[in-house]
Amino acid sequence: MPRVETTASQSRVISTRCCIVGGGPAGMLVGLLLARGGVTVTVLEKHADFLRDFRGDTVHPSTLEILQQIGLLDSFLALPHRREEQLLIRFGDGFHPVAEFCGLKPFGYMAFAPQWDFLDLLSDAARAHPNFTLRMSTEATGLLHDGARVVGVRAVDVQGELEVRSDIVIACDGRDSILRAASGLRVLDFGAPMDALWFRLPRSPTDIDNTFAVPGRGRLLAMINRTAYWQAALIVRKGSSTELRAQAMSEFHALVAPLLPFTDERIKHVAGWDQVKLLEVRVDRLQRWHRPGLLLIGDAAHAMSPAGGVGINLAIQDAVAAANVLGPALCNNVSIDEMLLARVQRRRWLPTVITQSVQRVLQRNLIAPALGAQPGPAAPMPRAARWVLQFPWVRRIPARFFGYGVRRERVVFGAVARTSEAVSNALAGFID
Ligand SMILES: Cc1cc2nc3c(=O)[nH]c(=O)nc-3n(C[C@H](O)[C@H](O)[C@H](O)COP(=O)(O)OP(=O)(O)OC[C@H]3O[C@@H](n4cnc5c(N)ncnc54)[C@H](O)[C@@H]3O)c2cc1C
Repeated sequence: MPRVETTASQSRVISTRCCIVGGGPAGMLVGLLLARGGVTVTVLEKHADFLRDFRGDTVHPSTLEILQQIGLLDSFLALPHRREEQLLIRFGDGFHPVAEFCGLKPFGYMAFAPQWDFLDLLSDAARAHPNFTLRMSTEATGLLHDGARVVGVRAVDVQGELEVRSDIVIACDGRDSILRAASGLRVLDFGAPMDALWFRLPRSPTDIDNTFAVPGRGRLLAMINRTAYWQAALIVRKGSSTELRAQAMSEFHALVAPLLPFTDERIKHVAGWDQVKLLEVRVDRLQRWHRPGLLLIGDAAHAMSPAGGVGINLAIQDAVAAANVLGPALCNNVSIDEMLLARVQRRRWLPTVITQSVQRVLQRNLIAPALGAQPGPAAPMPRAARWVLQFPWVRRIPARFFGYGVRRERVVFGAVARTSEAVSNALAGFID
């Protein structure tokens, strides 16, 4: 366990080797890997649990590979999840497969599981290590400095203010990162033409089984099958949700109902705006992902668009790269200089730039024109697209790109959990 002290002013001070802010996919995985390798880690998560709705449900084939490498795949597959071998789009003339995982190796499917289950799995595995601490309901509020170097974070929990002092802070606090704002690092903002409105619809046993999207004119709909219900996202023009929310629910029903492959009655279950959550879409990237003592990864370094559903994939791959690069130095009590932090950025920069570039092309050429059109039902699939997509190997191209990503990381640090004896020795070295 990390050291806890009280200063003369009675504010609590915690010392740890590595402080991770944010218990999303990036933060939980880098915390788990570092802890498995014997590093003393403290993760701060501002919420009391992982039970939030607006997180993607996708567990990509590349993430399944990572789980396999650290021996958690069977535990994941024992959780309630769904496997999609094809992703469908419902055009005006019916459902068409547009991405095909079937035939890809080593995993021929994309898994869908509520993200709270996935995060619980990672946190349970991490808590098995004595050198790992997860502090829920603890919100980082700023950075602590010693000259130009970041030496920890200020935070607040139910007992009040505390300081978490560490040799390195890894900011994984998502697209609204407080630490990113506090760091003063320069952000390149690429903009996004859309926002997402999230809501649930009941499922009937006779409904189609697949997760699918519907490209209506003036709005788009994504439907994720969560077995007991549909998790739906209505994608609307950026900024238009305020106008929409000022109107009666019947206007919202009229936008969604024509895109649903069931009777209009189902949408009436969304009876008030309190059942519809707005999630602002953003695409941006830090020019530099680090400062002395501070590294940012995942959405904190590069907020991803939901286009293609790849943000979790990148966050996970960043976490593996960060653990591989920083783990050995942290474990051997070597000081973490900026060159090491720059190595993490160098490793993850190209995959991020390529993925965001593809998302921006999709946003500019497909999503923005569709959202700008006069509202109407989905058009039939264009003939050229239908011809091209008849070939399974063509459908495997987007599946490979979005499912496996551009540069797959392999777990090196944390691949094998250090024995408790080795960890105790490392802890003793840290505490003395
Ligand atoms: C509408 C929408 C739909 C999406 N759908 C998908 C999808 O289907 N598939 C996909 O791969 N990606 C999707 N994404 C992108 C994906 O959600 C993110 O890219 C991914 O969650 C990033 O993971 P992360 O760990 O970096 O950050 P996050 O998942 O955002 O996690 C950040 C964590 O930090 C915590 N936190 C924040 N501030 C603090 C603080 N000050 N102190 C302590 N804790 C803090 C938060 O509570 C949170 O738990 C979608 C994005 C949007 C906008």
